[in-house]
Amino acid sequence: MNSDSEIRFPPELGKVNVRWFDTHAHYWDKKIQDPYPLLDRLFESGLEHVVNVGTTADTSRQCLQMADRFPQMYVAAGIHPEDCHALEGRVEDEVEQIRNLIQSRRDKVVALGEIGLDYYWQTNYGKPLDKPLEKAYFDAQLSLAEELDLPVIIHDREAHGDCAEILKAHPGVTGVLHSYSGSRETARELIKQGFFVSFSGVITFKNAARVAEVVREIPDERILAETDCPYLAPVPYRGEINHSGMMILTLDAMARIRGSTLEKTAALTLENGRRLFRLKT
Ligand SMILES: [Zn+2]
Repeated sequence: MNSDSEIRFPPELGKVNVRWFDTHAHYWDKKIQDPYPLLDRLFESGLEHVVNVGTTADTSRQCLQMADRFPQMYVAAGIHPEDCHALEGRVEDEVEQIRNLIQSRRDKVVALGEIGLDYYWQTNYGKPLDKPLEKAYFDAQLSLAEELDLPVIIHDREAHGDCAEILKAHPGVTGVLHSYSGSRETARELIKQGFFVSFSGVITFKNAARVAEVVREIPDERILAETDCPYLAPVPYRGEINHSGMMILTLDAMARIRGSTLEKTAALTLENGRRLFRLKT
């Protein structure tokens, strides 16, 4: 067994000739003790871009500080449905902080996120779940995305119905459904609305047959890949600290499900990520 802080690298890393885009990572998370040398190594190994995703105004600011050290790192700023329960200010004031942060750094902030609904949270953390509060943050940030003309990164856990309903009320907003675990029907509907669908290491887990069916049918031009690191490491590293290097295994699993190759899947998801986040390089 590895110690909690040990970081492992798939043997394929650096040997396969691919360039890839990790569209969802949390490199500010304390679980990753020494992110800078890790990121240096990953960018040298073929990681082309990464979006460092905030979950509060504070962690979004940390994302920006990190991104200033790496030209290939971009930022998503937003308030996560889990974290909104711990905030003490009024919804409008907290969201105002996100607005100011984004407006001051349009050079690095490429999305509003992660935002959404998480109805699993109550059972996970033992605190009361405040659905109206989560919905208020989600709704206010979707309006902000519309106003600032930014794509959104959606977190939807055990809240598929309400999430789709609120998104429908904001037809001008598009973005990505991150680490998607919903149904084929919801995916189809949101793709029609302009959304991309992103998959994480979860697709390598043993019980992933249902999500594999969704992976198979996403149109080429709407599929993305991500780590959600330090969480959701793919098999055989499940439960360990995840990082963008392990994404090779997720891309390989996606390729096998879709009857494609690792190289083509990496190139496709890289291109799609650049288009969604409007990257110029
Ligand atoms: Zn995340």
